[in-house]
Amino acid sequence: MSAAPDPSRRALLLGRRAATPPLRPPWALDESAFLDACTACGACVERCPERVLVRGAGGYAVFDPHLGECTFCGDCVDACAPRALDRTRVTDAFDTIAVAGDTCLPRRGVVCSSCRDGCPEHAIAFPLTSRVPVPSIDAARCTGCGACVGLCPVDAISLKAHATEPA
Ligand code: SF4
Ligand code: SF4
Ligand code: SF4
Repeated sequence: MSAAPDPSRRALLLGRRAATPPLRPPWALDESAFLDACTACGACVERCPERVLVRGAGGYAVFDPHLGECTFCGDCVDACAPRALDRTRVTDAFDTIAVAGDTCLPRRGVVCSSCRDGCPEHAIAFPLTSRVPVPSIDAARCTGCGACVGLCPVDAISLKAHATEPA
């Protein structure tokens, strides 16, 4: 069940990572170190009680927030024998923030606040600055848990690397 990943697939993934790096499980090493350490055994995927981890390209684990919220229980880290997920070396579980895109309903004049209701950090506010208030996400509060992503009726909200978030 836990065959080692094909090195050529690893090289392919590394070659692509600059364009669209996937969301890795929490406390993952940076992408290159993660791919070096991870054996694609799938132990983290099997252990996650929220079922938010899946096997992605090359068999490597991916966090899919459309499946639910990461509760930061740490079970995936504990399951990772080669320590590709490592709380002692990675400070923040995720280096991402939620971003509402152009298809967000209030930006099209339709009232909606579904994402706010699911945020455990109360990071999403709807300031009364327009007739139909649009979401404002507090980067200091957002943990990248993904709870908001699956709640959006039009799939307008996603997790982006901090470096790529809009100013
Ligand atoms: S920290 Fe817990 S909920 Fe989050 S991905 Fe790991 S096992 Fe799943
Ligand atoms: S749930 Fe989606 S459409 Fe509604 S306010 Fe949030 S991001 Fe916009
Ligand atoms: S990712 Fe989590 S903490 Fe951030 S806005 Fe969404 S629900 Fe809130």
